[in-house]
Parts: sequence; C-alpha cells; structure tokens
Amino acid sequence: GGKIRVRDIGKSYGSTRALEDVSLSVSEGEFCCIVGPSGCGKTTLLRAIAGLDDPDSGSILVDGNPVTDPGLDRGMVFQEYALFPWRTVRGNVRFGLDRPACECADCEARVRELVDLVGLDGFEDAYPKELSGGMKQRVGIARALAVDPEILLMDEPFGSVDARTRDRLHAELLDIWAQTEQTVVFVTHDIDEAVTLADRVVVMDADPGTVRSTLSIDVERP
Ligand code: ADP
Ligand code: ADP
Repeated sequence: GGKIRVRDIGKSYGSTRALEDVSLSVSEGEFCCIVGPSGCGKTTLLRAIAGLDDPDSGSILVDGNPVTDPGLDRGMVFQEYALFPWRTVRGNVRFGLDRPACECADCEARVRELVDLVGLDGFEDAYPKELSGGMKQRVGIARALAVDPEILLMDEPFGSVDARTRDRLHAELLDIWAQTEQTVVFVTHDIDEAVTLADRVVVMDADPGTVRSTLSIDVERP
C-alpha cells in the first residue's frame, strides 16, 4: 500500500488562492520530493494529503480510498517539530501510537524500538527543550513512524537544523526508508536537498500551486 493520487485539488484561504487544479501521483514505496518557492502551496498540498485540511475541490485517494481525515496509514513530520513540550521523548513518541496513554509492555517495547531507530537511546527521559534541533526532529520522525504508516509526509523537516546535522539526518532518513519501504512525500524549497533524497522531484510553480512539471532523477543508493 501507500499509493497516492491527487486529482485537480483547489484550496483558497479567503481571497488567497493557495492551490489551483493540482494533480499528482506517487507510487507505492516512492521517495517523492516536492519543491517550489515559499508560498506556492507545498504545505497546503501536504496537509491535504495528510487529511489535516480539506481541499475545496478535487479528490485525494490513498490506495483507492478517499482521504477524509488523518489516518493511521499516514504519519506527518512538521517543520517546527510540533512536539509536546511537557512530554518527554518517550511521551512524545508514545503519543504517535494508536494508544498514547498505554504503558503496556508491547507499547513500551515499540517506543524503545523507535527511539533506537532514530538514534536517541539514552534520551528517553529528556524534554524537548533539552534537545538540539536535529534531535527534536528525530523525535518527530519516531512519533510519525509509531503506527508503522504506509506513507510518511514531511514538511521541510530539516529546515531548522544546521547543514552538518542536515546531512546526517538525510543519511539516517534514507536508512530508515530502506528498512520500512514506505512511500515518502518530502516538501522542501531546497532543490539540492530534493535531488539528494528523491527518486522523483515534483516542481510547483510560484503561480498558485500549479504543478508545473515533474522530472525523474536517478539517485544512486548505497
Ligand atoms: P508553501 O508551503 O509552499 O510555503 P503554503 O501552502 O504554506 O505554501 O501557502 C500557500 C499560500 O496560502 C500562501 O500565500 C500562504 O500565505 C497562504 N496560506 C497558507 N496557510 C494559510 C492560512 N491558514 N490562512 C491564510 N492563508 C494561508
Ligand atoms: P511554510 O513555508 O512551511 O508554509 P510558513 O511560515 O509559510 O511555513 O507558514 C507557517 C504556518 O502559518 C503554516 O501552518 C501556514 O499554514 C500558516 N500560514 C501561512 N501563511 C499564512 C497566512 N497568510 N495567514 C495565516 N496563516 C498562514
């Protein structure tokens, strides 16, 4: 699973036209990057796929089913982390599980597995304010992966970390992707970042949310 088909979606915020007839298909297991200048509608498109916002028109299908609300088949990573400041790393990751309050052995084991996966073992009891930007985003990724979603949606997840950390996070993310075989839709305004990560890069125009062109880029994977 994890196939996405977006057809002719439009979205306005008052008089601002954020998306205009945007169509996009992403295959199962594909790592797709969406690039475009600030304000072209990338976040709006991603939030619509996530089911966090409703488009005004058009349709979004995931594995043939209409997206109506945030579902367990999709995990979302936000630009500014969106961690709960009063929860520890463990608490934030556990929140991504279907049963956020559950402290049963299975849930505990799953949380530990996720914390290990993103390289944060030893930091389970830390609070977000004690962590660097890169570490916070590792928590965000672990939380998004908690229910083992078919699709990982990422909105400029590394926009707030320094260049060296970003390089490390790219490698880590590709490692995780190789293990999980998820469909990834990754939004960035940085074409270099897109080319580093993607199987395919989709370019959105500055003109409200028009997907201008798509180009296939072969990426050599280690
Ligand atoms: P991007 O992610 O490419 O920067 P966005 O999807 O965030 O673009 O925004 C597209 C357009 O919609 C921009 O003009 C932005 O200012 C506007 N917009 C986005 N969210 C809102 C909102 N909640 N209310 C009003 N306007 C918004
Ligand atoms: P991004 O480039 O990721 O969209 P922004 O700084 O443009 O980041 O937007 C941050 C948040 O503010 C987003 O949730 C977006 O939907 C919202 N937003 C963007 N533009 C507007 C706007 N004109 N009015 C209200 N909210 C907005």
